Amino acid sequence: MWDYLIKGVRTIDPKNHIDDDWDIAIENGKVAEVAPDLPVGNARQTSEFNAMIAQPGIIDSHLHLGINPYGFKMEALAGVTTCLDMAGETDFILENSRKDGCGINFAILQALLPGKNIASNDPSADEINAFIDKVLASGAYGVKILGGHFPLTPEASARVVEICNQRNVYVAWHAGTTTDGSNINGMRQAVELAADNFLHLAHINAYCRGAIKPVEEETLEAINLLKNHPNIVSESYLSARNGTKLNVDQNGIPLSGVTRNCLKRFGFSVDTKGIEEAIKQGYLSVILEENGLSTLADRKDSLELFRQSHGDVSASFDRVNPFLPRAWIASAKRDNGQFVVDAISSDGGCIPRNVILESGISLIKLGALSASEFAAKTSQIPAQMLSLVNKGHLSTGADADITVYDPVTQKAVATFVGGTPVMLNGKVICKEGCVIAHPNSEAFLTQGNFAHQCVEANLSLLKQLHA
Ligand SMILES: [Zn+2]
Repeated sequence: MWDYLIKGVRTIDPKNHIDDDWDIAIENGKVAEVAPDLPVGNARQTSEFNAMIAQPGIIDSHLHLGINPYGFKMEALAGVTTCLDMAGETDFILENSRKDGCGINFAILQALLPGKNIASNDPSADEINAFIDKVLASGAYGVKILGGHFPLTPEASARVVEICNQRNVYVAWHAGTTTDGSNINGMRQAVELAADNFLHLAHINAYCRGAIKPVEEETLEAINLLKNHPNIVSESYLSARNGTKLNVDQNGIPLSGVTRNCLKRFGFSVDTKGIEEAIKQGYLSVILEENGLSTLADRKDSLELFRQSHGDVSASFDRVNPFLPRAWIASAKRDNGQFVVDAISSDGGCIPRNVILESGISLIKLGALSASEFAAKTSQIPAQMLSLVNKGHLSTGADADITVYDPVTQKAVATFVGGTPVMLNGKVICKEGCVIAHPNSEAFLTQGNFAHQCVEANLSLLKQLHA
């Protein structure tokens, strides 16, 4: 007898070439059968989701869970079942996952933070190896170079990529070093420094905002760089928004370079007055905590919160990511028919821009992607990126991780993780999360009583992903 039966849906599973009005049966946390008209009498529990779409659970290949405790819940509500945190801190995220994990599987790439967890921005091979040893034994899945915010020297960045490849450790890079910024020049530099090594290059759209050259030229260059370097795996996100801080110095000048650049770009003065004007004109919103979620305050509340806190608030600029690169990068293909950019991510989590479904379905409606391609970019390919062989598809025996969404409202209506309902009609039902970590963490996670699954990356396979 099945534990659960999902009926009434259009089931999409790109790996098995299924796109039909078929039902999904679940048993012992695994997919038992996907076929038309499965009998209700064979299942302990049945849910009808009429006119909804079911696909392998969404795997968000770039998000942030380390900013506040709300990221898990926000991801669960957005239809995500598994995700990859792109910075850490590992301790903070693990601790939150115990009570606020919302049933989500999560892997963490711990960032190298000069002055915080490594001595300088130019760590030696020995220091890098010691860092990797430490993070892999304490719950991380791999390593992140956070070049846009905490740059290393070009030489040290290349060393990190090289050493991770020698050791078969997953490595991602938010482009940028001490010599080049988080823009198309930084992207070109990262691709060159990676040489023939595997690298997950983060959020490709962020290098195509028109910072150096016209948006169209930057986007074309980014696409060509990836086509010519098939050893690079990547994702991009679909939100127009960014995330930043509004702290100012004693002269009222914003401390964050991101905030200064955004104010300049939209024609506001780079000071407290400019920030207030950007809020009044709807370019900038303060992020506030409400009902256990981070959300965007309206103009009036944003202004009040900014003034009350003297700038000590998180915030988000709208219209930072132009539409053209977001849509172009999401749909561009290689000569062999594969996508240039492998996955659609959110770069959200704690940041309120978890719009994989909302904006991804708009791309389907615009004809830029088919629903099956969307499922490939949000589940099948991200599962390959993380070497999760039982996820990303609905073959018999696969993990019963399933996202059910409404193609009309463009929202998630239900998710299942390992056959257990995690979110139903906007309510999160599950508590604990499950960390996906490097095998070196086994003892640490067992001792700490964390729900976990240890998986080793397969970099040689990933280097063949675009072959
Ligand atoms: Zn990010």
